[in-house]
Amino acid sequence: MPTSAARSNRVAFVTGITGQDGGYLAEQLLAEGVTVHGLVRPGDSAAVEELLDRSPDVVLHEGDLADVDLVTGLVTELEPDEIYNLAGISSVAFSWEHPVLTAQLSGVAAATVLEAAWQTQESSGRRVAVVQASSAEIFGNADTSPQTESTTVRPVSPYGAAKAYAHQMTDIYRGRGLAASSCILFNHESPRRPETFVTRKITSAAARIGAEGTGVMRLGNLDASRDWGWAPDYVDAMVRAARAETPGDFVIATGETHTVAEFAEAALRRAGIGDSWRDHVEVDPQFFRPVDATAMVGDPGKARSELGWEPTVPFAEVVGRMVDHDLALLST
Ligand code: GDP
Repeated sequence: MPTSAARSNRVAFVTGITGQDGGYLAEQLLAEGVTVHGLVRPGDSAAVEELLDRSPDVVLHEGDLADVDLVTGLVTELEPDEIYNLAGISSVAFSWEHPVLTAQLSGVAAATVLEAAWQTQESSGRRVAVVQASSAEIFGNADTSPQTESTTVRPVSPYGAAKAYAHQMTDIYRGRGLAASSCILFNHESPRRPETFVTRKITSAAARIGAEGTGVMRLGNLDASRDWGWAPDYVDAMVRAARAETPGDFVIATGETHTVAEFAEAALRRAGIGDSWRDHVEVDPQFFRPVDATAMVGDPGKARSELGWEPTVPFAEVVGRMVDHDLALLST
């Protein structure tokens, strides 16, 4: 087993490495010279192929996140310096269809990771930092705005409830002496988002409508507002949290909020549709949620002062980059 002194570089273990954030995280860590191990779901071959195309140096381990012995064994064997727990059900919409699976993968699995990290730290004497990808959804319909690290945790979706459990377990293990941080991530987007998220659904439809000059996109709640940032910035915040001398909860957000309608307008304008953009948006009740967090906006003040973190890509640019990517895809 390597000791701290014998190791030439840092070792990271990432769950959820095939997701949007996992991919960006692998790229950032590898560029820094970190050895990156990732857990991948059996049968996730398309996502694995894409990940290995971008980051051939990641070391992948196949296994189910719900398999406590497997996850514990991996952490014990790897003795990572940093663990990033990104895995789970990532879509709030999907969590309404699969609440139990969501509880297992986005909630209980965090306890497995934290306990394994704690045991490893105890037996090896090495610091094992854990970063939990927490979520603004833990606040539900928050009664204060903007939301901070001390906003009441009161989720309104199965996804939010699972993330709230993981969030609180992270705090509990921090109390036990583990360098465990929760990054309370507000929505963060990129061209790698799947179309199950409203942003990518909008930008791919806007690109199509812009290219053809006709067509509509069908959306649910146009009045919901979200604090949308740029995914690689949020990944960078998690790396900073892992290395922070004082672990804690950190809101990672831009501090700006926009409605779904504003996102659609910005995307359609970017794709070349002008003032008639509203003619290309239809409301379809099938995309409404049983309960939806209506307004979200985070205050990243603590991350700024304690982690030196800043969002670098403003709203218009996030939309622009995603639309440009989808326009380019149409012409390939
Ligand atoms: P979430 O904030 O993690 O749930 O991210 P989403 O991108 O899935 O949803 C953001 C907001 O957009 C939520 O308030 C949704 O109710 C709203 N929304 C409106 N229309 C749609 C739609 O067609 N698809 C999705 N996924 N969300 C929609």
